[in-house]
Amino acid sequence: MFYEGKAKKLYSTSDPDLVIAYFKDDATAFNGKKRDTIEDKGVVNNRMSELFFTLLEKNGVNTHFVRRLNDREMLCKRLHIIPVETVVRNLVAGSMAKRLGRKEGEPLPHPIVEYYYKSDPLDDPMILGEHAIAFGWATAAELKQIDAMALKVDGLLSKFLDERGVLLVDFKLEFGRYHGEVLLGDEICPDTCRFWDKATRQKLDKDRFRHDLGGVEEAYHEMLRRVEN
Ligand code: 5GP
Repeated sequence: MFYEGKAKKLYSTSDPDLVIAYFKDDATAFNGKKRDTIEDKGVVNNRMSELFFTLLEKNGVNTHFVRRLNDREMLCKRLHIIPVETVVRNLVAGSMAKRLGRKEGEPLPHPIVEYYYKSDPLDDPMILGEHAIAFGWATAAELKQIDAMALKVDGLLSKFLDERGVLLVDFKLEFGRYHGEVLLGDEICPDTCRFWDKATRQKLDKDRFRHDLGGVEEAYHEMLRRVEN
């Protein structure tokens, strides 16, 4: 093991270009201030990420995904992570509702892409692309690629989920460099996305854990069931 994060552990392999990601059940929110475990979260997130990464790869989005090894482990390309979290929003929710005093659920006229500096001590502050360029976190060319990839992911996942009765409210992506190429990394799952049932607007994601809404495990399993169908 060479790295342990809040939700995953990373292991090196005999190939320096490949790593194994192990998906834990540990759940944190509010930058680690709230902690617990969600039973089988690692299994659900590993499988859901596999399904989403496979869909994206099929549609021309390059990702770090190589293959799922077992219930909790995924073989991935080793990235040099760009320390910028990219958030795409289709409806107002979460920090956007709070910061701008807008009602949760308000639709946006077009998807909005935001950047956050990946820093635990600073609580991931929102930044401009200019900051990322000025401080050398990403080049202008990389940000252009990140924007295009993030919007493409939004379009593909929104359509896929809409067909399964799910609204893709917003989500967070991480990107990294791999032999001069920008690849989509991390995971795509109920920890990193807001999923709402289209008919009832019931939350089917980590907000159930963040705000003690109950039915956390059930929501993760329900989302996996829909994505697998
Ligand atoms: P918000 O800025 O509203 O808190 O989050 C926007 C979207 O990005 C949500 O879908 C949320 O799950 C995801 N997101 C933002 N920051 C993080 C983070 O540090 N970790 C995880 N897992 N998801 C995040």
